[in-house]
Amino acid sequence: MKFELTILGCGGAIPTLERKPTSQYLNIQDRRFLIDCGEGTQVQMRKFKCKFSKIDHIFISHLHGDHFLGIFGYLSSLNLLGRNNDINIYAPENLINLLEAHNSISEKNFNFKIIFHPLNFLKFERLYDDKIMEVFSFPVNHSVPTCGFLFKEKTTERRMIKEKIKELDLSIESIKKLKNSENCEVNGVLINYNDVTELGNRSRTYAYCADSQYDEKIISYIENVDLIYHEATFLENMKDKAVKTKHSTAKQAATIALKAKAKQLIIGHFSARYDSVEQFSKEAKEIFNQTISAYDGYTHQLKAEN
Ligand SMILES: [Zn+2]
Repeated sequence: MKFELTILGCGGAIPTLERKPTSQYLNIQDRRFLIDCGEGTQVQMRKFKCKFSKIDHIFISHLHGDHFLGIFGYLSSLNLLGRNNDINIYAPENLINLLEAHNSISEKNFNFKIIFHPLNFLKFERLYDDKIMEVFSFPVNHSVPTCGFLFKEKTTERRMIKEKIKELDLSIESIKKLKNSENCEVNGVLINYNDVTELGNRSRTYAYCADSQYDEKIISYIENVDLIYHEATFLENMKDKAVKTKHSTAKQAATIALKAKAKQLIIGHFSARYDSVEQFSKEAKEIFNQTISAYDGYTHQLKAEN
């Protein structure tokens, strides 16, 4: 029951030796998602042992180079490795034009089909849905149209306590009712569902807030999430620069996490001007203590227990 996030790159616009541009690998119960794909993403996946070819869904938040330039190389490698399964890309509409131009100029055709889903920058929207989870996009405030993504497991129904099935000789029909939190009568005895079932898995949630200036509008989309990734490009003494470039400071990221009642915050997208990120952590923790500073290769697990 994995819910595991790996930070492939936590740097800002310019890559450094320590920090590559933005990219994240998310494994939810063996569904693998790639979130943004900055330059060098495929190398980072190899370095941090993220299964390279198992991704079927790629989410690109916006078309600043540090969030998507790696996609050309990554898709090319998948092609060379013989991929023929479809791949879904959720991104700003222009990305498909860029990919087509690239393929046309390099006279290349992928052996797999790209199913392209343009993002909506005006409202919260569901992008993906299966029996265990959903993914939503939500608009954020940046210098070009940008979306964040919310990954959310579905709550599972109650589970039967195995011994009780045998003990009470329950029929499939009764089990169905009890798992659905209904009491039911078996051989003239009323069975309370609480006595024979236990809680199913809780819904774990992760909100990737992309590049964004401080904007409380996003709070309603991400309230009560387990984990938020919020950019913190600058320290507080460069707040003016953050406003000008539509980025955030560590303190602002922490304020969003606090107001959204998140359980945990990861900050990243640190500007290349900073060698150490210690001060980011310090400033953020003054507001929201459950803050972690990202580093390339950092892995975060969300537990399934209630
Ligand atoms: Zn950006």
